[in-house]
Amino acid sequence: MESQANEALLQEIAQRQHLIAELGQQTERERLMSAIALRISASLNLEEILNTTVTEVRQFLNCDRVLVYQVEPKSEITTVVAESTQPNYTSLLDTKIAPPLFGERLLEYSQGNIRVLNDIEQQESPTAINQFLHQVLVKASLTVPLLYGGKFWGLLAIHQCSGPRQWQQLEIELLKQLATQLSIAIQQSELYQQVVELNTNLENQVKERTKELQQSLDYEAILKRISDDVRDSLDENHILQVAVWELAVALNIDGCDSALYNTSQAIATISYEYTTSLPTAQGKVIKMTDFQDGYNQLLQGQYFQFCQLVPSWKGKVAMLACPIFDDRGALGDLWLFKHQEQAFSDLEIRLLQQVANQCAIAMRQARLYQASQVQVQELEKLNNLKDDFLSTVSHELRTPLANMKMAIQMLGISLNRSQELFAELRKPPNEQNKVARYYQILQNECERELNLIDDLLDLQQMYAGVQPILLTSINLQTWLSEIAEPFSQRLKSQQHQLTIEVAETVPNLIIDSASLGRVFTELLNNACKYTPPGEKIVVKAVNCQEVMQISVLNFGVEIPNNERQQVFERFYRIPNSDPWKHGGTGLGLALVKQILSRIGGTIVVAHSDRNQTCFMVELPLTPVL
Ligand code: ATP
Ligand code: MG
Repeated sequence: MESQANEALLQEIAQRQHLIAELGQQTERERLMSAIALRISASLNLEEILNTTVTEVRQFLNCDRVLVYQVEPKSEITTVVAESTQPNYTSLLDTKIAPPLFGERLLEYSQGNIRVLNDIEQQESPTAINQFLHQVLVKASLTVPLLYGGKFWGLLAIHQCSGPRQWQQLEIELLKQLATQLSIAIQQSELYQQVVELNTNLENQVKERTKELQQSLDYEAILKRISDDVRDSLDENHILQVAVWELAVALNIDGCDSALYNTSQAIATISYEYTTSLPTAQGKVIKMTDFQDGYNQLLQGQYFQFCQLVPSWKGKVAMLACPIFDDRGALGDLWLFKHQEQAFSDLEIRLLQQVANQCAIAMRQARLYQASQVQVQELEKLNNLKDDFLSTVSHELRTPLANMKMAIQMLGISLNRSQELFAELRKPPNEQNKVARYYQILQNECERELNLIDDLLDLQQMYAGVQPILLTSINLQTWLSEIAEPFSQRLKSQQHQLTIEVAETVPNLIIDSASLGRVFTELLNNACKYTPPGEKIVVKAVNCQEVMQISVLNFGVEIPNNERQQVFERFYRIPNSDPWKHGGTGLGLALVKQILSRIGGTIVVAHSDRNQTCFMVELPLTPVL
């Protein structure tokens, strides 16, 4: 009885010791499992996570092989992506298992089911996957799916190859927990990978954009440089040379050329070229019909690019062509060449188009300038012809007029004698007066005609610049009085009061006095002609800095603002402004202006008070030769 009780006690003690040992083992396993889970989640690198898992799990469960399969979602091909195996068993790393091998099993895994195989020999109906396991000497296996967020990622599988193995519930539970931890770690690492990829993409995009931006800034600078250079040029050759050279150098390409089209747009001639390695084509004449499609596009203002194998250029060459085009059509084209099988970028195309536009504007300008230059030359020729004609006619008119003048003088002498005769014959006096009046008219008109012809001849000589300049020193006070002297009779008869005011500071003037004499004679002549009777005429001289100012001011009459320039034009007279019918040809002031410009002076109608006219002459104090 006692011995029975002892035995029961011993049994109970043994059971309790067993339980304590099991509990200890369980605690130890859980502790190890937590340590593994921690190590797995410590990394974000998928390869590292998987390798840590398989190694640690094999050690922990003391099994022959631990595998991680990854399932490709679309094809469902399952690949062994990580493995830890006993050295004496075959490695299954990178083995790919096609979906039929798993059969329905893969679907079961994806629904969260696990697979426990204690002894492969005990299987009644061997499946395809079991046959495969059999081939690789697996005796027992435990397979847990890796799932996260509803996604079936793969499998964690444990193989026992040394013999069958009765998987403990605790082992199964722990493995499931580990699979959950692994799934989380995989998800984290995949998310991290996505973030890394996104970041890299973003960084690349930023780099790409920065590069593009820099390039577009560089191209803008090139465009500005070319535009500045060609814009002000009126030389077509220079425009194209600059464009071709700058484009080739700036884009660092193998060649660039420019062709000009003939007026019928049938022929293109390569006029300018820059090339480093390509054979020269300078001067080449291309019939547009030989390359109809391309030239049709260019003539319509469109660019194009293509790549061609050119044997003479030793390989493939990318070419970009752009027309020099504006609203009036194509003038020529620009071509870029590079020894690469690579298209020209959008930026390069845009730069070429903009340069071609600038060239078109500058070339039109240059051509317009050329045309206007031809017209100017034509007009100059015509003007010279007219001047020659005027000069010849004036000469031809002057000779007979000089003879007529002499004849009139002779007639005058004869008339004087006849008058004595008439008196003797007691003819009525009015008859005598008539003859005298006719004679007077004849003499005046002849004088006027001679003056006009002299003015015309002087003006012609002035334009031809043949008259020499003779410098003398003059004292303006005495000189102006001498110039005014011949007008004294006329001034008196028209009741004009002439004053000459010369400032004391005025120095002697070194000048061609004959020319200056003609100027002031004409200005005084005009003043006498256009000043109403009884009004004042003032001649004033002052010096200011390097300039001598001499003005002729007459009262009682004014020149309208809009006529101030025109009065200096040849043959111009202000309409209805000669109330006393003195007459004139409108040459006087033109002659004055021409004489002054020859001796370095100027003349303007100065702004003055109402009812006054002021002609202001400015002369340099130091003579201009
Ligand atoms: P010409 O001098 O050839 O005999 P003209 O006196 O008419 O003829 P200009 O001396 O060239 O020709 O003068 C041009 C016009 O300017 C004159 O017709 C006149 O209307 C105006 N003009 C010139 N001088 C004066 C002046 N001092 N006062 C007012 N008007 C003037
Ligand atoms: Mg005049």
